[in-house]
Amino acid sequence: MINVTKTFLPPQNDYQALLKKAWETGWMTNRGVLVQELEQKLKEHLQVPNVIAMTNGTLPLQIAIKALGLKGEIITTPFSYVATTSSIVWEGCTPVFVDIHPEYLTIDETKIEAAITPETSAILATHVFGNPCDVEAIEMIAKKHQLKVIYDAAHCFGVTYKGQSIFTYGDVSTCSFHATKLFHTGEGGALVCQPEYYNTMYDHHNFGHDGPEAFHGLGINAKMSEPQAAMGLAVLPYMSHICARRKFVVERYSNGLGSEDIQLLKLRDGVEWNYCYYPVIFKNEAVLMKVKTALEKEAIFARRYFYPSLDTLPYVDHSEPCQLSHKISACVLCLPLYVDLDRQDVDRIIKIINANIC
Ligand SMILES: *Cc1c(COP(=O)(O)O)cnc(C)c1O
Repeated sequence: MINVTKTFLPPQNDYQALLKKAWETGWMTNRGVLVQELEQKLKEHLQVPNVIAMTNGTLPLQIAIKALGLKGEIITTPFSYVATTSSIVWEGCTPVFVDIHPEYLTIDETKIEAAITPETSAILATHVFGNPCDVEAIEMIAKKHQLKVIYDAAHCFGVTYKGQSIFTYGDVSTCSFHATKLFHTGEGGALVCQPEYYNTMYDHHNFGHDGPEAFHGLGINAKMSEPQAAMGLAVLPYMSHICARRKFVVERYSNGLGSEDIQLLKLRDGVEWNYCYYPVIFKNEAVLMKVKTALEKEAIFARRYFYPSLDTLPYVDHSEPCQLSHKISACVLCLPLYVDLDRQDVDRIIKIINANIC
């Protein structure tokens, strides 16, 4: 069976050697030595001013919204994972969807200003499949209208834009270290922010504690645990190997799928990408279903990601549907992509797709 992804597992001995440190300290959580070491290493690896390790990639979104004091409407993208929208609603704000760019698949920055109202407090956009939003345009709009900017950068581990970590753009960026993501800690995630926000973000992820007996304010528990950090420390040394292997698969797909009937991801100029996903956009949903069924007959499970378009969720307003996002989410399939995916299997997938697209 070939799944859309397969978690990279480091040598078990590496993991156990790291866990031994947790046994020695007797600490399983509360920001022990392993979490601190992981944060330090990630700061260096990603070249960012700060990293707060968290227990998943959803809580950093919620904490960013809460800690920035956002209220009212938040402009967002309908083409993302459900956590982008659910975090907004969970924090008592209203998502206002702006349609996406047909090739980059990120929020269409030219349509943002028309969606701004006196109630708008922020823009929360996703760097889709590691492809950055137009961060410069978004920054200008945000400055002009005094809006905060949060980037859901769940896919962006290691991505740089114009030579700089993509996590350094916007007020806050979040990442996911879920087992299906490029870099992982089983479950896990992180928040990176402009230095002025660090203390408030940190406090919010640790119950608002100000020492053991006092509180700065409201907080929640989003702390990463020591076993999670051990997994991260064990995986981190393999990142260049992981990306090199994925690059090989990606290039083989791209060479084999050069057909006019298929739209491939167009990366923005200036991006150093991380080979995190291989989305393929078919002419229509019928072709997608035909390809998906043909792959499944061979026990190959591609995934409809992102589907459905988030402006169709049962708990959001449906009055202004985002047509492009509807069309693309109905036609997009992410192909299997992981470190030890065989060359023969990649060729087999290419052959099945090419035989089913017309
Ligand atoms: C995976 C993902 C998340 C959520 O991360 P978790 O670690 O699973 O909580 C949020 N946004 C996007 C775009 C994702 O792909």
